[in-house]
Amino acid sequence: MKNSLKVFENIGELLTLEGASRKEGRRVTEADLSIIPDAVLVSHSGKIVWAGPAAKFSKDILAPFGGEREAEFIPLGGRTVTPGFVECHTHLVFAGDRSEEFEWRMQGQSYQDIAAKGGGILSTVRATRTASAPELQVLAQERVDRFVRQGVTTLEIKSGYGLNFETEKKILTVASQLKGPRIVRTYLGPHSRSPDHPDLQSYMERILAHDLPKMAREKLADRVDIYIENGFFDLALSQAFFAQAQELGLPISAHVEQLSDFGGTALALQYRPQSVDHVVYVSGETLQKLAQSETTAVLLPASDLYLKMRYPPARELLDQGARCALSTDFNPGTSPTQDLSLVGVLARVEMKMKLAEVLSAFTVGAAHALGLAGAVGSLTTGKASDFAVLDCSWRELFYAIGRHPVTDTYRAGEKL
Ligand SMILES: [Zn+2]
Repeated sequence: MKNSLKVFENIGELLTLEGASRKEGRRVTEADLSIIPDAVLVSHSGKIVWAGPAAKFSKDILAPFGGEREAEFIPLGGRTVTPGFVECHTHLVFAGDRSEEFEWRMQGQSYQDIAAKGGGILSTVRATRTASAPELQVLAQERVDRFVRQGVTTLEIKSGYGLNFETEKKILTVASQLKGPRIVRTYLGPHSRSPDHPDLQSYMERILAHDLPKMAREKLADRVDIYIENGFFDLALSQAFFAQAQELGLPISAHVEQLSDFGGTALALQYRPQSVDHVVYVSGETLQKLAQSETTAVLLPASDLYLKMRYPPARELLDQGARCALSTDFNPGTSPTQDLSLVGVLARVEMKMKLAEVLSAFTVGAAHALGLAGAVGSLTTGKASDFAVLDCSWRELFYAIGRHPVTDTYRAGEKL
């Protein structure tokens, strides 16, 4: 990859999303997809050095990078090219599955009944603690490959199925060794009550005194996350967690307002998080504050579908100027799907998002959510040559659930 010069030519339609990127993912319209018909994209050392119409391409463009003789020409057969998708919220490293519990839930059994049978998050925690790192690696890599086949070039992965330092570290280490896309590792120790502690408070004390500083010292995570909700981490415990993460220089994200209007969004916004995720019950003044902040609202409609909950107020957020991202929330309990097309269709059908907004949410918006907007999410000069090649028009994206029109996925100019 070093110093390699590649000319991707005969691109039928190149969606650079330059406009969406310039607007930092806010109030995006179809014009902001910045579509170039019959285009050429030039990549050098994994980064874009030129993108434009074939009519304006000349061999002189290659001169500063060694000239035509150094270049590899890759014809894309008139296909469509979009920025690689950024999956900004997954719980991808886990063992076991919760398929049996799904059936129980659909038959109307309560969470308490299911927990009494040994189900729920703690069943995933038991399986993940028991699994060896190599076992987890194999399971996780298969899932990563499934994302890559859908055009994903950047992937966020949370811990949170260890609920003790040792297993949280195992999960984040596995995540860092996965092959394919860029990986962003998020420490989600405060995901739920730990079976090793009598209550949430004593687990949080352990996190603050030991786990979180050690995560930072050993550079095991790129950012942190917490589950704020009635019956999970309350506002006081969450505030203590944010304060320490900020002191340690770790960027913040949070699961907020998924099941109720609990106040997590308003609290998190005081700490300038990269993202607040779910935001189903956000409204009024808090919604307005979020829309005007630098924080990205990450919307996760597949989990709303599985939980038979309502969907987040996407239209209101977008119309007030919020930057939104979309993601699968892939996890074995509340969103066992990895299907980006399902998420995009739900956004269009249930949340009234326009196709251009969905595309921007999966690229520019999600890149912002991970603090990577300077490097990925759009196909403009200086950014990574991370893109997906489609065998159809971009208008067929997020239209047919389960159809993945991606033929090739390139990261830093290399085919994955
Ligand atoms: Zn989640």
